[in-house]
Amino acid sequence: MAALRRLRQCRPSGIAMSHFHTSSCASARQHYKMLVLGGGSGGISMSARMKRMMGAENVAVVEPSEMHYYQPIWTLVGAGAKTLTSSGRSTASVMPSGVKWVKSKVQEINPNTNTVRTDDGSEISYEYLIVALGLQLHYEKIKGLPEGFEQPKIGSNYSVQTVDKTWKALQDFKEGNAVFTFPNTPVKCAGAPQKIMYLTEAFLRKTGKRDKANIIYNTSLPVLFGIKKYADSLWDIVKQRDLQVNLRQNLIEVRADKQEAVFENLDKPGETNVIEYEMLHVTPPMGRPNLVVKGSQLADEAGWLDVNKDNLQHKRYPNVFGIGDCTNLPTIRTAAAVAAQTAILNRSISKVMKNEKPDRTYDGYTSCPLVTSYNTVILAEFDYNGQPLETFPVNQAKESRFMYHMKADVMPHLYWHGLLRYV
Ligand SMILES: Cc1cc2nc3c(=O)[nH]c(=O)nc-3n(C[C@H](O)[C@H](O)[C@H](O)COP(=O)(O)OP(=O)(O)OC[C@H]3O[C@@H](n4cnc5c(N)ncnc54)[C@H](O)[C@@H]3O)c2cc1C
Repeated sequence: MAALRRLRQCRPSGIAMSHFHTSSCASARQHYKMLVLGGGSGGISMSARMKRMMGAENVAVVEPSEMHYYQPIWTLVGAGAKTLTSSGRSTASVMPSGVKWVKSKVQEINPNTNTVRTDDGSEISYEYLIVALGLQLHYEKIKGLPEGFEQPKIGSNYSVQTVDKTWKALQDFKEGNAVFTFPNTPVKCAGAPQKIMYLTEAFLRKTGKRDKANIIYNTSLPVLFGIKKYADSLWDIVKQRDLQVNLRQNLIEVRADKQEAVFENLDKPGETNVIEYEMLHVTPPMGRPNLVVKGSQLADEAGWLDVNKDNLQHKRYPNVFGIGDCTNLPTIRTAAAVAAQTAILNRSISKVMKNEKPDRTYDGYTSCPLVTSYNTVILAEFDYNGQPLETFPVNQAKESRFMYHMKADVMPHLYWHGLLRYV
């Protein structure tokens, strides 16, 4: 919310246009003033802004997927409160009109020659580059996955292929352990692994099965949530609803045929713990996009896109910028963070193009609507320092029906019609 408000304050100013190829035969063109890699939240929202800044004919987006998904709603899809269909639209429909959609996968980025190579072997050159490649899911790093998803009783809200399986497993629950995991890697939306636990508890209560269920949250983290103000409220809920939270437990194997999940104790290397489950929700290990490091100087030591945390400009290549989950910005990776970043990045690019210094500073704003039931949310909003940056004049650490309405109904609308279109 605050992010969406902020991005309106940052309209691009007029930019002097240099000479570009503007052939009507777009497919033959291999040079763009602005090339955007990735057509997810960050890529589409920035391409809409770049179109306004420099004209649609100067902007191209490389994105292989036919569908664009509003991933934040998958939490509710996994709990049966929204449909998967409602979360997606065709990429063609969200691509800003006139902007060139290169329907390919980027294979290599060469910032020294200002070119990228796509999987069909084409080379595209650019004057300016925005990297918005998101992060990668690594189900395969858990023994027994992804093939374990062919069995019932297991799902994952993190992928379009597995989110409906969560809802199926929840509906099929009879009695036993409902187990939820958080991996030993950075993740996107750090609250999502536990939101589905609260929804499961609410669903089982509603359907009269709660007393037949042990609800277990096994997290690799040493905390329930990183920001104390919200973590304190979540611990209260965990106690009130009799949820079992085990810290420093990392899922390493799923034996889907036996309905067993194997965890390692991160504080006691070599110690494992097997839990039999009636329902398992997996949050997979996640990592940087491979090609950021491959043959390029774009990555930091950990492999994430190495950008200046204040202005989102690459630290070594001034004509390269980054946004969203693929960057090393030290904040929680969310679409709300992307919304805040678009305004800063828009401003940085407009300044750099005029040979001026970026002058706006990103404070790390991010937001996580912690869904705690089918009609309540704790709305966490905070900055790089973990300081709450709340939008509403109420204590947002308290469960709220209004915030649920924001999450379930208002935010999707703002996403499709505001953030992606830059209106
Ligand atoms: C279950 C779940 C719940 C969430 N809940 C929330 C929430 O409540 N609030 C919130 O704000 N955020 C939430 N998020 C996080 C949010 O969806 C992401 O942080 C956001 O989408 C990041 O945007 P992005 O552009 O960086 O990455 P993405 O939107 O993931 O886009 C990356 C794009 O890059 C493309 N790509 C990848 N590799 C290549 C390649 N080689 N070549 C070309 N293109 C490529 C992909 O196809 C994709 O379209 C949630 C996410 C999930 C999964």
